[in-house]
Amino acid sequence: MGWSVGQGSTGHGSTGHGRHRHSPAACPRCGKAVREPTAWSSAWRCDWHGEVHPLLPAFSPSREGLDGLLRTAGVPAWLPWPLPVGWLVTGFAGAGDERTGIRACAVAVSGPNPLGGPADMLVVAEEPGIGLGAAVAGLDGVDPGAGFASAPPAATVSFGKHDFPLWQVDSPDRAAFAGEIKGHWMWVVLWPETAGILLIEPIGLRDLRDPDQDLDLPFGAPSPRLPAP
Ligand SMILES: [Zn+2]
Repeated sequence: MGWSVGQGSTGHGSTGHGRHRHSPAACPRCGKAVREPTAWSSAWRCDWHGEVHPLLPAFSPSREGLDGLLRTAGVPAWLPWPLPVGWLVTGFAGAGDERTGIRACAVAVSGPNPLGGPADMLVVAEEPGIGLGAAVAGLDGVDPGAGFASAPPAATVSFGKHDFPLWQVDSPDRAAFAGEIKGHWMWVVLWPETAGILLIEPIGLRDLRDPDQDLDLPFGAPSPRLPAP
């Protein structure tokens, strides 16, 4: 049961061969190339971080790209909705393999910074221990680190009828917020740092996995902030 990534690869036809053909993949924590599973281990390995869920090539900002992400997404694909005025959906990223499915999803959106100039935002949902959100936030670990949530929350996101607090995370050259929704880490990271002002108001979220939403997504050029090999 293969699954296609990006454009071109069809995903089927990997049966009957001793070796699967893999797309390029990277460590979700450091971005370095990872080693493929072997006959002795079904896990992908980073030389620095050990067994990891491989970061896949970015999915294009298109319906096809989104479908590629959602095909095996085991965590929410959070989209701020409605989008801030003038903002576009600018791509998707995921970490995971054929065996595990995608265990970390990143949705990129981009648009005008209320304080001037362009801005980018990545919204990440992931299972604990993967580290994609922390890497996007510029941190070394796999979670927000010691002291997290010791201060009052700095922002609120809402999903369905529920509000969820986010705490600001100390991170370099960007504004990063993290919280927990239904057992998954949720990260919102914005560039430049001043774009964090967008979270002064609570933002609504949609999980793009939910069927029948019929969202008319405005797609833009791929975000330069998307993590991908
Ligand atoms: Zn690594």
